[in-house]
Formats: sequence, structure tokens, C-alpha cells
Amino acid sequence: MEDDEAQRKLLERSLVKAKFEVTVSKSVEDAIACLDQLQFAVAVVDLSLFDKSGLDFVRELVRRSSRTRVIIHTGNASFESAREGIELGVFAYVEKSQGISELVSQVGRASTAYLKDSLSFAEQEIRLQIRLLDSVREGVIASNVQQSVIFANRYALEMLGYSDKEIYGKNIVSLFDGLIGKEVENQDALSWMASAFDGAQSIERDVSIVLALKPGDQAFSAHPYRTFRLQVSQIVDSFDARLGHVLVFSDVTVQKRAELELNQARELANHAQRVSVIGQMAGVLSHEINQPLGAISNFAGGLLLGLEHSTVALPELKSTLKSIQDQAIRASDVLGRLRRFISGNAAAESAVDINQLVVESVKLLECELRAHHVTAETKLEERQLLVIGDRIQLTQVIVNILKNAAEAIDTAGASERCIVITTRVVDLIVQIEVADCGPGISTEYLGRLFEPYFSTKDSGMGLGLSISKTIVENHRGTMSVENRRTGHGVLVQLLLPQSEHLL
Ligand code: ADP
Repeated sequence: MEDDEAQRKLLERSLVKAKFEVTVSKSVEDAIACLDQLQFAVAVVDLSLFDKSGLDFVRELVRRSSRTRVIIHTGNASFESAREGIELGVFAYVEKSQGISELVSQVGRASTAYLKDSLSFAEQEIRLQIRLLDSVREGVIASNVQQSVIFANRYALEMLGYSDKEIYGKNIVSLFDGLIGKEVENQDALSWMASAFDGAQSIERDVSIVLALKPGDQAFSAHPYRTFRLQVSQIVDSFDARLGHVLVFSDVTVQKRAELELNQARELANHAQRVSVIGQMAGVLSHEINQPLGAISNFAGGLLLGLEHSTVALPELKSTLKSIQDQAIRASDVLGRLRRFISGNAAAESAVDINQLVVESVKLLECELRAHHVTAETKLEERQLLVIGDRIQLTQVIVNILKNAAEAIDTAGASERCIVITTRVVDLIVQIEVADCGPGISTEYLGRLFEPYFSTKDSGMGLGLSISKTIVENHRGTMSVENRRTGHGVLVQLLLPQSEHLL
């Protein structure tokens, strides 16, 4: 900063000659504006005896806690300004009478001091960042464009069992060779890793990894497999050019195990509930199976008698055997449906046709409905309605709703004894509505229906609605139970996202 034009030019030329990059300002305002644009190593400030505004610039540097070194270049340094300059941490005073070469050599010294300072500051910053990354309970590994490891934090080294020396320079994809578990779900994990480091997006995935612990180590025998969530992101420069990748991984074994246990517990509860539905229907069911068995026995008895008296003609023999076959098929149908309903523990996703599911559920409950003298009417959407989900679990939901409706109608001794099941699709949402003509639900119970074990029935488990709701929500749907607004009885509504899949 120099206000004398000739002096300024001379100064600039001399500094440029000494290989410094120079920005010249004519005023304090100009110089302060420059501070916003660039980072300066040294500021040479002209301070004349009568105008001390150059010190305003130095004060501004102090205010910004800048590491820029300041050299006061003055024609005649007053004691006063020197004292203030020292207070502000000025690096040197150079009197104009000492000549330009002295100023240039002071600028050299000041810039060396600045560089040393910046270097140790950068070192401190890096050390702090490494300490931060080392204290994180997640593995962090960075690689360059050649996919060679350039950084790994302490957790990453511990988890993967590498030493500092071993990991640096190693190919990041090959780090997991031999560590990735052989479980089916991870068969493509290695190729996934390779593509993750080739691709331009950030991706995430759970991968089971065999811990790189020494066999015999207690943790190894307890959990040789651990599941890590791997996240690969690109490192880019300010022009978006790729500099490499960073891999962050965290141990999600406990979380995964808890999820698995929760799912198993849920499956068990669902299974128990289905078995209980069948248990409650046992009387009706044995009747349903006994009927064809009785018929078979009658047909066979008649035939035997006829054969003994040689009174059976071939056409009669044929038609009776056909009737026996029909009855056997009927009994086996009932048993088959029951078996399919009770088994099927693990949730299996497929495209499920809701209309077909409603028809099958009504069939499954046919004998129960008949025992309650209740009929089921279906008003099904003409188009095929597909949702993605577990057929058995969704059947369980409909069966529960129908069973509740039939029981409600029967206990109330209602004169109208019909359940109406309607399906439709609105805005890609499949709607299933079951309306009954039972007594409805008293308002004091309405808020408690979905509570596990809430039941108003003597032999009720009180799990049907709560399990049904969980199943529907697991299918990204909603379930509501309310008293019908017109007439009496209950309206149960299920909303499920429609799938575009074709069967
Ligand atoms: P449970 O049938 O074993 O009692 P649920 O969870 O299926 O268990 O039902 C809980 C309660 O909700 C029932 O006991 C009954 O009081 C009430 N409820 C369910 N559906 C109906 C219905 N359609 N009409 C009247 N009450 C119903």
C-alpha cells in the first residue's frame, strides 16, 4: 500500500523481480477490499508521518486474525506510530532511506515466517482432523483415483486387521478380499465393491464380513461374522473432478440381529394367531371333513352291498366311484387350504391378486360362515388388482376380518346376516372394504381395538386386529375399523399400494 505513484511502481517492480506476486493498492479501502479476494503472505504498508491511516489497515488484519505479516514502510517513523505498530504485531519497520533492497529482503524474511506459520497451522489442522477421525466408531478409508488407499482411521485398521504399513497403497477393493462372508446374500458383494469404486454415485449396502481376528480370540469364536454397512462416496475437487473415494463403514451386526429376532418373533406370533383361528374353527372344520368322509363311507357301503348281491351295473359303479372321488377331493381341498394357511412362516413377497385373495379367503372360511348362518357377498373390481406382498399374511388379515364379522352378526342374532366385501382401486391405492350388519362396536372400545390382547369375547385371544394392522403396515398400507355411517355394523377398510407388476 503506497500513495506515491513513482514509489509504488518502483516497489512493485523490485518485488516482482524478486519473484513475489504483488497486488498494489492506492488506499486503505482498496487494500481491505483485496483481503476479501486473496490470502496475502506479506503486506507492505506506507505510513507517512502525517497520515496514520495505514494503521487502520493493520487493525483490520488483526481483527480478521490474519496470519499476513506486516512491514511498515515509512519516510519518518514517529515513536508514537512505532509503538502502536508493535502493539499490533507488525513484523518490521523499514525506513525509506534504507533503500528498496532492504525492503525486499525484509519481505523475504516476512514471507518465510508466514509460510512456516501456515505450515505448522496446517499440520495442526491435519493432526486434529486425524484425531477426530480416529475417535469415530466408524471405519473411514480414503483412496485416490488409482484406487490406492491414502488414509485409514484407527477403527478401520482394527476392524479389518491391517497395520498402518500394510494398508497404505493397497487397492481399496482388494481390502475386503477374503474377509467378505460366504453367505448367499454376499455372493455379489465383491463385484458390488468394484462397481462402487468405479461409479460416480454414492452408494450404500449391508455386507457380512468375517472379522479379521485371530482364531482363538474370544470375539472371533462368538461372532465370526459381522455385518457392516458400507457407504462409498466420491471425493471431488472444487471443479467436481474426481480425486478418489471415501469408504465409510459401521458395524450394524447388533442392529441386524435385533431386526432378525424381531422378524422371527413376529412370524411366530402370526403363526400362533393363524393356528388359533383354525383351533377356534376346529369343531366346524371336523364337521366339514366328516361330511365327505361320511358320504364316501355311504357310497362305498352301498357299492359293496350291490356287488355282494350282483345288482350293480357298470354305469352305476362308475358314477358312484366318481362321487366317491369328488367327495375325497372336497375333503382334501379343505385340508390343503388349511395347510397352506397354517404353514408359510417366513414372509415371502410376490405379486398378489387381491380379488383372488378375497375369493380364496371366503372359501377358507366357507364352513365357518355356514355354521354362523352368514353369507358373504363379493363386489370385486373388474380389473386385476395386484399388490406386492405375502399371500399367506394378507389372507390371514382378510380371514380375521371375516371371522370377526361372522361372529359379530351371530352373537347379535341379527336378522340381516350378510357380509359385503368390496374391492376397488383409486389413485393407485387398492381398497378392500368389509362391511357387516352386526351390532357395531361401542364407542368405549373403539380406541382399543388394535391393542394386543384386547377382546370382548370369552374365548377371544384379542390378537387378530393388532396382528392384522402390523401386517398391513408392513405392506406399506393402512387399516381402519369404524362403525358404518349408514345402517349398522362395522366397516373395515384396508388400503394397500397397487403394484404395476403383471402376474
Ligand atoms: P378377538 O376376535 O380374538 O377378540 P380381535 O383383535 O380380532 O380379537 O378383535 C378384538 C375385538 O374387536 C373383538 O373382541 C371385538 O370386540 C371387536 N371387533 C372386531 N371386529 C368386530 C366386528 N366386525 N363387529 C363388532 N366388534 C368387532
